Amino acid sequence: MKTILFSDSAEDISSAAELIKKGEVVGIPTETVYGLGANALDEKAVRVVFAAKGRPADNPLIVHVADFSQAENYTSYIPSLAYKLADKFCPGPLTMVLQKNDKIPMVTSGGLDTVGIRVPSHAIMHKIIVESGCPIAAPSANISGLPSPTCAVHVMEDMNGRIAAVLDGGTSEFGVESTVISFETEDSVRILRPGAITKEMLLEICHEVIIDPSILKELEDGQEAASPGMKYKHYSPKANVIMVESSSADFRRFISENDGEKVYSLIYNSDEKDFPYNYMTYGETPLEQAHWIFQRLRELDSVGAETVYVRAPIKEGVGLAVYNRLIRAAGFEVIRI
Ligand code: AMP
Ligand code: MG
Repeated sequence: MKTILFSDSAEDISSAAELIKKGEVVGIPTETVYGLGANALDEKAVRVVFAAKGRPADNPLIVHVADFSQAENYTSYIPSLAYKLADKFCPGPLTMVLQKNDKIPMVTSGGLDTVGIRVPSHAIMHKIIVESGCPIAAPSANISGLPSPTCAVHVMEDMNGRIAAVLDGGTSEFGVESTVISFETEDSVRILRPGAITKEMLLEICHEVIIDPSILKELEDGQEAASPGMKYKHYSPKANVIMVESSSADFRRFISENDGEKVYSLIYNSDEKDFPYNYMTYGETPLEQAHWIFQRLRELDSVGAETVYVRAPIKEGVGLAVYNRLIRAAGFEVIRI
């Protein structure tokens, strides 16, 4: 299959929407990462998404709608807390797990009786949803297990020849996937996957916000994942990634003892001055680090890094999302100094 590369012109956006309406799969930009978009109600199209990614069938797809009121078409019950959260955070990088109705095929929900609903804020993504007239199932547009794509070039690297088209809408703003939450009680939620909508932000509306233990720790044998994606190896480049939780000075000392030709460090901007070993920086603040992390993991592969030591991000605010992606990229290998 030849994969068409669309621009962000109005005509190309309409062509992308038309392809999705016809049951094709298209790589599309969002404010989090690029998605592999298909009509969420079309089982055949959704199966192509799973096949193109090599995604396990029990890992559900998030369904994207143009406005939160459309969630009512695909769910059997919406708690009032969800409406309050939607008022504050939709459109934006928040996915709410709700009871699905029969319109959402089991293939889309990975066999679960719930569905994750999100209202993206990206203007092009919004137009594609409106013009296609479909709710759009869109997982991250990478091959399963690899770092998520934050620009059209990354999507082409992984998906060229596997899907009908990719639309180039520039670089994704946040750079990590949406925050996924489920509803615990009338006024509390559980974060299943951290993202740019943080615990602190949710606490402005919710009485309690629980951080699911799988965010920071490997699941034990037989333990069930509240968020199926958390049980798979994820976000990994070819290089062996190891996270180092330390101060800047201790990190530098550690690398001096573990340096090698194909060893790279992924450090904060403020660690960079006179850093004498192979390195890349990934920003300073949690928001910057979220924006750069997946791009840097891909770049480290392209320079031939075999071992990558990452100075760990902080676990607060958006930093928790970056930490969560990196600890998975590292296969839970963390050195604490
Ligand atoms: P991705 O499509 O790559 O952004 O991954 C979506 C992730 O959202 C999945 O791997 C799950 O961890 C989570 N998710 C989506 N739908 C549900 C659901 N119905 N219940 C729990 N977690 C979900
Ligand atoms: Mg993904």
